[in-house]
Amino acid sequence: MPIASAPIAEVAPRVDTSVMQVLRTSPKTSRAWALASVLAALALVIFGSAHAAPKATTLIHGVTIVDGTGKAAYRASVRLSGGRIAEIGLLRRKPGDTLVRGQGLVLAPGFIDTHSHHDRGLGEHPDALAAVSQGITTIVVGQDGSSAPSLDTYFRALERSPPAVNVASYVGHGTIRSVVMGKDFARPATTAELASMKALLAREMAAGALGLSTGLEYDPGINATKEEVLELARVTASNGGRYISHIRSEDRWLWEAVDEIIDIGRRTGMPVQISHAKLAMVDWWGDAPKLLARLDKARAEGVRITADIYPYEYWQSTLTVLFPERDFTNRVTAEFALKSLAPPEGLRLSRYQPDKSLEGKTIAEIARARGTDPAQTLMDLIAGAPEPGSESVIATSMDSRDVAALIAWPHSNISSDGLLTGGHPRGAGAFTRVLRQYVREQKLLTLEQAIHKMTELPATHVGLAGRGTIARGAPADLVLFDPRTVTDRSTVERPNSLSAGVQRVWVNGELVYANGRATGRRPGVVIRRERP
Ligand SMILES: [Zn+2]
Repeated sequence: MPIASAPIAEVAPRVDTSVMQVLRTSPKTSRAWALASVLAALALVIFGSAHAAPKATTLIHGVTIVDGTGKAAYRASVRLSGGRIAEIGLLRRKPGDTLVRGQGLVLAPGFIDTHSHHDRGLGEHPDALAAVSQGITTIVVGQDGSSAPSLDTYFRALERSPPAVNVASYVGHGTIRSVVMGKDFARPATTAELASMKALLAREMAAGALGLSTGLEYDPGINATKEEVLELARVTASNGGRYISHIRSEDRWLWEAVDEIIDIGRRTGMPVQISHAKLAMVDWWGDAPKLLARLDKARAEGVRITADIYPYEYWQSTLTVLFPERDFTNRVTAEFALKSLAPPEGLRLSRYQPDKSLEGKTIAEIARARGTDPAQTLMDLIAGAPEPGSESVIATSMDSRDVAALIAWPHSNISSDGLLTGGHPRGAGAFTRVLRQYVREQKLLTLEQAIHKMTELPATHVGLAGRGTIARGAPADLVLFDPRTVTDRSTVERPNSLSAGVQRVWVNGELVYANGRATGRRPGVVIRRERP
């Protein structure tokens, strides 16, 4: 990716020193070198010498600051220096400042995505365009019980070859369970296996994991007993970590699953977070107030429970999650799933490796084409894709009133649950969709409340100290956007269309996204859990 429209003052010192290096290392004089020295001299005249130049700073002038705390917006200018926010106030341009004219646009802290899968493919796409173009500057990965096999190795690799965004990670319960139990995971762990898992967990916590993540609706986490999860949660708590969970059920046994995470929070005392909160069953539609009352009651009793949520009525996962008993040939289960969880008209294959021609089609459409009923079609599709990860589905399964109520809860933050290139539009549009739909159109949230749910609140929920606000000395993770036009453009049909209205994004003081393009800079850092 080329460096697009980088301000001259930021580029000049690099040009200058590289020419000087060439001149120093070359023993010969030639016309090229002569030309180079003329250019270098010219650069010195125009931009000042590297020694005399003031420290490179950026002045973002005349913006409306929404600082992430939820406080009312205010007008000011911001100066960035050394990767941090150096000054906020009525600032004038100084020599060495790269000037960014704010023109009344909103400057907010970069968004913190507490449930992200944007790490997949980050090696090939270090610009993380789907994330930064919606204003995300920090991704929190290792979700749903799945993390890198060794966080220490993973973090070091990221530091050798940094991406555009900051990365923090949980340690996945499913990952350590797989290491210990291998393919023989469809059973409770033995005492010895649990001891091995605890040791692995402690190692990963020492490497800087934020805490433990579980995916209790997926293999192999689904086979863990409550006791196993609680035991590992205790180890996490004693290491100063926290717990985040794709809970055991988001539909049939939702209430029991909510009680399980509340219980973990109560018994360990550590913060616990429900990932991508939802009521994904027709019977529970409209019950968001009941769910929130249960969470508020727990909070009132001292349980530090919070949630994150993405702003869509449809989830993306595997067809197999519709069969928690793993009875994939049971017609009764298939019929129940299609009636109560994911009606066939809204159940769309986003990936189906055994037959790519089916991708993009709904179960209803495939059933009609095959002449089989939807339940049989569902079972046939699962049987036809035995390899893990070979199928993925988008299911319309939630009610818009519940989504709105969960977003409005004071203790929920926004997340994407998204991929860099995926079949669900959340990967490229979750945050901008909230700004469009729930702030500008429906006025469910004020702009200040919405930004708080994307910045300081998520930072607090996952334990990222010092990020998520515009404050002097804070890391300069920032997003500049137009609140009148900011919008998602990704849809189920075009899930990777980038957002509009986000004008510039800085990570640790460096511009990573401007005018619809990645700049090619990769200033992202690894954020390890702070030791208590
Ligand atoms: Zn999940």
